Amino acid sequence: MAVFNINQCPVCGSKKLKSFITCTDFFVSGEQFEIMECNICGFKFTANAEDEENIGKYYQSEEYISHSNTSKGLVNVVYHNVRNYMLGCKRRLVEKVTGAKTGHILDVGAGTGFFLNEMKTHGWQGSGTEKSADARAFAQKEFGLEMDGPGQLYPFEKESFDAITLWHVLEHIHQLNENLEAFVRLLKPGGKLIIALPNHTSYDARHYKQYWAAWDVPRHLWHFAPKQVKLLAKRHGLRLTSLHPMPFDSFYVSILSEKYKKSKLALFKGLMHGKISWLNSLVNKSKCSSVIYVFGK
Ligand SMILES: [Zn+2]
Repeated sequence: MAVFNINQCPVCGSKKLKSFITCTDFFVSGEQFEIMECNICGFKFTANAEDEENIGKYYQSEEYISHSNTSKGLVNVVYHNVRNYMLGCKRRLVEKVTGAKTGHILDVGAGTGFFLNEMKTHGWQGSGTEKSADARAFAQKEFGLEMDGPGQLYPFEKESFDAITLWHVLEHIHQLNENLEAFVRLLKPGGKLIIALPNHTSYDARHYKQYWAAWDVPRHLWHFAPKQVKLLAKRHGLRLTSLHPMPFDSFYVSILSEKYKKSKLALFKGLMHGKISWLNSLVNKSKCSSVIYVFGK
């Protein structure tokens, strides 16, 4: 086993790092992980996660619903209904920000392929990459999608894509700057890079502190907030063209956080705090539990 050791901030390059908070992996291992903060730019990341080859064991849970298709329990039923609704929202967002009804899209970390299938059904040409062999097999069987696994970073021609999407994926990727560099290379001039990320400056993150479900250590290696996302993008010559809240995440993350706290009335309390988070994001969309960032070159 090898530890993924970060001794330099990947956003600003500073080596001045300090401890921020210690969180538990409530989802799989029960182990504790420290989250570090850059003294200069405030970027946060998980200390001592496993490296890329060995982190797979922290993904081994039947409940990893973002990668599976189970429908056990009320939270999952709600989640899957919301997901189907969100697929349409995501497609319309891609069409709106690219100004195109068709084109070539790359979905990075495409999981079981639901989003790519939505795009292909509506006339887009879709390519995807996915680390999990099980998820790739599901996408192949269910939707006939052929996706690339790990290996060569991205085996595509320069300026191939009108849109590149990462729906809650960038926070899982070890080679952060290398990947962003590749996306810049793969985007057509005028293409859009669309990245959805949890936001630890949201009301729900501040309320739940170490129980906030979207810390999700050690699977989330990087913990983003709008300020550092903009800095990181600038480093790669990307410019933020718009920002969009993901209101359902306020509720989903709050309910999950209440479960992690082992609260009585977890659903009720989660919905209540989710509502406060959502109302906050109506006033300021960069305070939403999850934010979609859209970049151009
Ligand atoms: Zn920094």
